[in-house]
Amino acid sequence: MHWETIHKDTAPVVPPRLSDYEGARSAFTWSQARGALAGLPGGGLNMAHEAVDRHAALDHGEKVALSCVARDDSVSTVTYAELARRTARFANVLRSLGVGRGDRVFTLLGRCPELYTTVLGTLKNTSVLCPLFSAFGPDPVEQRLRLGDAQVLVTTAALYRRKVAERRTSVPGLKHVLIVGPGAEGLPDTASFDDLMSAAPDTFTIPPTSPEDMALLHFTSGTTGTPKGAVHVHEAVVAHHATAASALDLRPEDVYWCTADPGWVTGMSYGIIAPLVHGVTLVVDEGDYDARRWYRILGEQRVTVWYTAPTALRMLMRATPREGPYDLPRAFDLSALRFVASVGEPLNPEAVVWGRDVLGLPVHDNWWQTETGCIMIANFAACDIRPGSMGRPLPGVDATVLERGEDGRARVVDGKVTEVESPGVEGELALRTGWPSMFRGYLHDKERYDAAFADGWYLTGDLVRRDGDGWYWFVGRADDVIKSAGHLIGPFEVESALMEHPAVAEAGVIGRPDPVAGNVVKAFVSLRPGVDPTPDLERELLAFGRRKLGPAVAPREIAFDQKLPKTRSGKVMRRVLRARELGLPTGDLSTLEGSE
Ligand code: AMP
Repeated sequence: MHWETIHKDTAPVVPPRLSDYEGARSAFTWSQARGALAGLPGGGLNMAHEAVDRHAALDHGEKVALSCVARDDSVSTVTYAELARRTARFANVLRSLGVGRGDRVFTLLGRCPELYTTVLGTLKNTSVLCPLFSAFGPDPVEQRLRLGDAQVLVTTAALYRRKVAERRTSVPGLKHVLIVGPGAEGLPDTASFDDLMSAAPDTFTIPPTSPEDMALLHFTSGTTGTPKGAVHVHEAVVAHHATAASALDLRPEDVYWCTADPGWVTGMSYGIIAPLVHGVTLVVDEGDYDARRWYRILGEQRVTVWYTAPTALRMLMRATPREGPYDLPRAFDLSALRFVASVGEPLNPEAVVWGRDVLGLPVHDNWWQTETGCIMIANFAACDIRPGSMGRPLPGVDATVLERGEDGRARVVDGKVTEVESPGVEGELALRTGWPSMFRGYLHDKERYDAAFADGWYLTGDLVRRDGDGWYWFVGRADDVIKSAGHLIGPFEVESALMEHPAVAEAGVIGRPDPVAGNVVKAFVSLRPGVDPTPDLERELLAFGRRKLGPAVAPREIAFDQKLPKTRSGKVMRRVLRARELGLPTGDLSTLEGSE
């Protein structure tokens, strides 16, 4: 189906911050973008100073930084001045525990006010913050705590009991577990976050911070091996700030709501850092998705800029079909809304147009990844939208499409890559290195980091096409990682967990397309000799997966298959499983076990 371009012919009430795309691209320099930030009083650059103390020191201290909607719908607010005090207290808590520069502080929390205190207090203390997704099960949590050298974990009693307590001895480096809310008393080897906070002073001078000091650690998934810890430094804040202006059209007077979970990179870069650096009022919803709740929050909080995800939009589309009637959104006053953006997975053109019809604003898709640290390609407020396209590279971002080799990834010959010249030809998306929020390493894995670059380009692992006018269109992943409901899932992590079940001999895991979640995780399992593939065993394996991995990662479907396609070296070929599942040609099978 062909989708018409959405033209922005009527001048918006508020002129966009980026009004002339070509002009902005040619005028932009990262050093100018750096100049828009304050820097620490004694020199250096610290994310938390830009996000909190700078505003508190100016006369915006009494402005609301966080407008927190609790699960029971009650609303509480935190001003920039109060956030400065709370984050100072937390920095002092860390210091009193002997946690210092570069030490790792993990969060396993929902969107509660303490999350913001922990993140920004950690950055003030020049320690490193690593957020975990609270829907992870005990396996992914333990593995990331270990791989990331966690010294401190801030969580709740319920999450600790369910996901960490039994594994505590497997993470010997984890010295301090701080429990937010009630319940610390009954848990050995933990301390109360609130008690420590109330005993700590509420002023703190941020120590000297180099822009290259490590600030954030975000785990992401690859096709093989353990999750990768992408390292980000304080200088990333330059990119957070600049891109939130150009791609999200953010400005200080905005009321901004980012629905991403804080356990993932969007929930950090654009859910905490970027909006606070802009001095906006941030809406923080502790509750879960519910169509009425979300429309109500958009209306009652007078949200002006909304950053959400395709799966969420598709769920809203089910609750409010484009054909109408629009009873649910019309029950609330959405007139404050002026910009809607989405990220994380392909945004189907229907969703872009649905936004225009139901919310009164088209949805602006944008593209980036954990490794890039900031939005790289976007549809801009001032520009037309081609529904289905991710848009065009941001000012300061140099993107290209690279020809692919036999393994499906960019072809590198003698260290050189070849750019695709003709429009519409599929290739691997690559980005010229050197933007401030580019990841600086995969923790403890230099080889994997080095393999992500060639010839001055960062190779993204995504397949795209670029049309004749320079717009990028997402095609798929060049590897086997799975995007389900916007969350990146490594098939290897799921396969390894399933293979710990005594009935399972081998497993191959793929994403099966799903109209709402994009993909759901499906596992093909071969059983040990003598084990029967019964419906009971299928249920047991599904439950086993959920217990270990958590609902966000565990397989939703299990299929028994005693003849999993394998390479001659014995590796399960997910590509073949996926092709079979979709009824597609299986492609070149010359490496398949059993072929001549
Ligand atoms: P993560 O590192 O978890 O943020 O996931 C990054 C990956 O999500 C990208 O490499 C893409 O595969 C996918 N992704 C992000 N944004 C988009 C988008 N706008 N359209 C299609 N895929 C996207």
